[in-house]
Amino acid sequence: MAGKLDGQVVAITGASSGIGEATALALAAEGASVALAARRADRIEALAGKITGDGGKALAIETDVTDESQARAFVEGAKEGLGGLDGLVNNAGVMLLGPVAGAETDDWRRMIEVNLLGLLYCTHAALPIMGAQGSGHIVNLSSVAGRMAAAGSAVYNMTKWGVGGFSEGLRQEVLHAGVRVTIVEPGFVDTELQGHNELEIVKDGIKKMEKQIGDLLQAEDIAAAIVYALTQPQHVSVNEVLVRPTGQQR
Ligand code: NDP
Repeated sequence: MAGKLDGQVVAITGASSGIGEATALALAAEGASVALAARRADRIEALAGKITGDGGKALAIETDVTDESQARAFVEGAKEGLGGLDGLVNNAGVMLLGPVAGAETDDWRRMIEVNLLGLLYCTHAALPIMGAQGSGHIVNLSSVAGRMAAAGSAVYNMTKWGVGGFSEGLRQEVLHAGVRVTIVEPGFVDTELQGHNELEIVKDGIKKMEKQIGDLLQAEDIAAAIVYALTQPQHVSVNEVLVRPTGQQR
């Protein structure tokens, strides 16, 4: 059966788990060839093996997006290895929560480097390719935390607010080149993301929130939103998709 993305190539960062992994599978199911970036090479190689085994086309490229040359090598390697670059999903991200006062400032650097600089480096590498072909689509993962700030997530808020502001500025710059920009803003999704937090106060807050929400979003729910944005006709630019679990208050 024909897929909506047959013949297209999409590069996905943070494809070793959660939303990135689910997005790779969902895009491959629509016929896209997918390039997979993450630091955990074993995970993306296994995912590429699964997609290939199911009849798709996938290329795993071990990448730390905070290293500009690795980010560039990923994007250019996707084009060379898979024969084009129609989409880039800037999904790699970290969320290390806690109060500003007394925070580990290394956590701030990690969030800024992955959530902002990693996204910028990959975008910068993709733009000349998309500009030259007169089409392309960049999907940036923001968050509900890019719209609603909260005590304990100020720096994460800052990075996701940054993704929103950057994406709108970029959209206006590249629309004449036929390049579309989308931000996807998930609420609470059941992935590894929350598990990197070590502060007891944060872990308790996450548990409380999980209980209040009830049924959390699954990575596949966000993958479906990304597929929706990427499968619209060229004249339709889905700029923003906000998806919360039904039970999430804020
Ligand atoms: P996961 O922790 O499951 O996935 C994060 C991905 O980012 C992993 O594949 C990880 O791969 C990758 N990553 C982290 N650091 C780097 C790096 N330096 N270089 C390359 N890849 C990196 O979380 P999610 O799937 O939930 O998160 C995906 C995106 O969705 C993030 O941007 C997150 O902020 C956003 N989001 C998530 C929400 C949620 O509730 N889960 C809510 C709102 C937004 P590896 O460690 O192998 O490098």
